Amino acid sequence: MASDSIEMSDLQISRIDVFQVDLPYSGGVYHLSGGREYTSFDATIVRITTNNGLEGWGESTPFGSTYIAAHALGVRAGIAEIAPKLIGLDPRRVDRINEAMDMALIGHEHAKTALDVACWDIFGKSVGLPVCELLGGRTDVQMPVISSIHMGEPEAMRQRVAEHRAKGYKAHSVKIGGEPMDDAARVTAALADKQPGEFFIVDANGGLSVETALRMLRLLPPGLDFVLEAPCPTWRECMSLRRRTDVPIIFDELATNDASIVQIVADDGAEGIGLKISKNGGLTKGRRHRDICIAAGYTVSVQETTGSDIAFAAIVHLGQTVPERYLRCVLESRDVVTVKTADGAFDVKDGRISAPREPGLGIRPRLNVLGEPVASYF
Ligand SMILES: [Mg+2]
Repeated sequence: MASDSIEMSDLQISRIDVFQVDLPYSGGVYHLSGGREYTSFDATIVRITTNNGLEGWGESTPFGSTYIAAHALGVRAGIAEIAPKLIGLDPRRVDRINEAMDMALIGHEHAKTALDVACWDIFGKSVGLPVCELLGGRTDVQMPVISSIHMGEPEAMRQRVAEHRAKGYKAHSVKIGGEPMDDAARVTAALADKQPGEFFIVDANGGLSVETALRMLRLLPPGLDFVLEAPCPTWRECMSLRRRTDVPIIFDELATNDASIVQIVADDGAEGIGLKISKNGGLTKGRRHRDICIAAGYTVSVQETTGSDIAFAAIVHLGQTVPERYLRCVLESRDVVTVKTADGAFDVKDGRISAPREPGLGIRPRLNVLGEPVASYF
């Protein structure tokens, strides 16, 4: 009977284990606008086990506690609220899983992401397909990876761009957010050696006021080719700046859920968004945000706040479903950290990557790196 088939599933979540791993920043100290500094990131990795022994993996690693309203202790506290409510559910019914998570805890999308991604990993393994096929099907796009060039002295930033260019990177996210003259010098230096086919995002991470943004833009030499990401911290300021400049604008920290992304479109607030799945709640919600953006004609940068191999695998699969004209890049989050948490066919060649062919995420976690679980639910 149909009702029985909804009630009774032969695949159920039987156990959820939580691991904690420190991920030191690969470049020493990462500087963001507002004097924010980061030296290490606290990763939460989840293993979901089903009643028939399938295992799914997911990761959520906030960019410290000062990037968005997310922090590592909150990830694990949120999972403690949610995980007991998922025992016995079918992990393949990803929208139902997300309804159960939203019933257990309002918001706190970063806590839901690792659980959601682990369900997709199981879904893929259960049917023998890579996650990208379940998210809509793979494109044949060799996806460009984007660098993350932290804020610093202009010539040092120019040098970091050059180092990533030498590794094959075609796209660069250049961080600013200080005094207008300093920021103008940073942008000018970082773009000084721009090559044909390269793409630049100038990312203030909400660190500018409308005034400092306008002054910085006026100080730039003409003809620099970039988009401005997350110029100001609030919606009102971004919309005010939007009305006074013709620089293409990308939303990131303010694009976090269905409502905000729909509102950006309604307000004609941007040309695209940074779609970071731990900020937006995982692949289930990220899939919807992808589709809203495609419907609006936006480009998406498929990214993570940060993270190791498991987080990277998830964004590679989502990115692999975005048609080329709408895909800005995927973030090479592994480049930012020094610890490897999983293996898999995720090689970047000439600055580009495509999703692997193995079922699920296509990763093999390094259990010796993960250590013992810090929490288990069953
Ligand atoms: Mg950004």
